[in-house]
Amino acid sequence: MITIALSKGRIFEETLPLLAAAGIVPSEAPESTRKLIIGTNQPDVQLIIVRASDVPTYVQYGAADIGVAGKDVLIEHGGQGLYQPLDLEIAKCQLMVAVQNGFDYEGAVKQGARLRIATKYTEQAKEHFASKGVYVDLIKLYGSMELAPLVGLADAIVDLVSTGGTLKANNLVAVEHIRDISSRLVINQSALKLKHERLQPMLDAFNATVASRHA
Ligand code: ATP
Ligand code: MG
Repeated sequence: MITIALSKGRIFEETLPLLAAAGIVPSEAPESTRKLIIGTNQPDVQLIIVRASDVPTYVQYGAADIGVAGKDVLIEHGGQGLYQPLDLEIAKCQLMVAVQNGFDYEGAVKQGARLRIATKYTEQAKEHFASKGVYVDLIKLYGSMELAPLVGLADAIVDLVSTGGTLKANNLVAVEHIRDISSRLVINQSALKLKHERLQPMLDAFNATVASRHA
């Protein structure tokens, strides 16, 4: 059996064409079922539906052979036990620093003010501000980061931005780009050896599909 870990939403949707290229078609959509294990047209391939941030963990411990995870999630996880052979170039967005409209971020940084930063991405935030030599107090949140500056919990947030619509709707502006994010294929290191014959053609199909998008 080959088990593929995916999260619902944009990653699932954008992974479908890659699976199709490998001849894999899920028998149900995660949105229309409460099942967490979803079969496919291939009797020896199943999908498991997990939280985006849990994908690396399932693959690391071999509960899934392969998975798809955002670079944001992989950096926070650390990547232990995982091969990351392919950038799938899906679920693209940017990790940014954002503040409430009118907050003088540049000025605060120049003055050497200690900033309060709310984020789910504490590892990347720590590294970013350390590399700038800015002292920060990090406040760990699990979602709805946009709220934090509006209610005085933080001076700034570190969050993913794609269209900017959510920032705009909450009177926030992006002030710094940390990195571009896309999703990568992750593979359990021993599965790649033990199930090589079954996995390699899938990886080749994913590779070819990603490459064909540049043609
Ligand atoms: P959950 O919604 O389960 O709390 P999540 O918000 O991390 O977790 P998704 O919203 O499904 O999960 O996002 C999954 C991945 O999609 C992210 O880890 C990131 O790599 C990518 N992504 C692309 N654009 C965005 C965006 N605008 N906001 C959040 N994630 C995005
Ligand atoms: Mg989400």
